[in-house]
Amino acid sequence: MDLDKEIGTLERRILEIKNEIMGLGEIRNGSVSEQYNVCGNPTCRCKDKDNPQKHGPDYQLSYRFNKKSTSQFVSAENIDKVRQQLADYKTCVKLKDE
Ligand SMILES: [Zn+2]
Repeated sequence: MDLDKEIGTLERRILEIKNEIMGLGEIRNGSVSEQYNVCGNPTCRCKDKDNPQKHGPDYQLSYRFNKKSTSQFVSAENIDKVRQQLADYKTCVKLKDE
């Protein structure tokens, strides 16, 4: 086996990984769940006997902070951005492990 060639290949891959990590945007660890809820209005569509239509989705982000599980709501306006941050976090961890 050609050691110089192998080292060259590894160094190129390390450079690629560094560039890929630098190309990531803001990263965020956690997971998003969608929630559908009923409200307090007894005549609302969400309480319809035959075809209840719950409100939502509300987006809830769950994550750990200072060793505690916590969560917060994410507005529909920001959900795409947050999903991108979560995806970039996973990519970042994968690249770091590699
Ligand atoms: Zn309702």
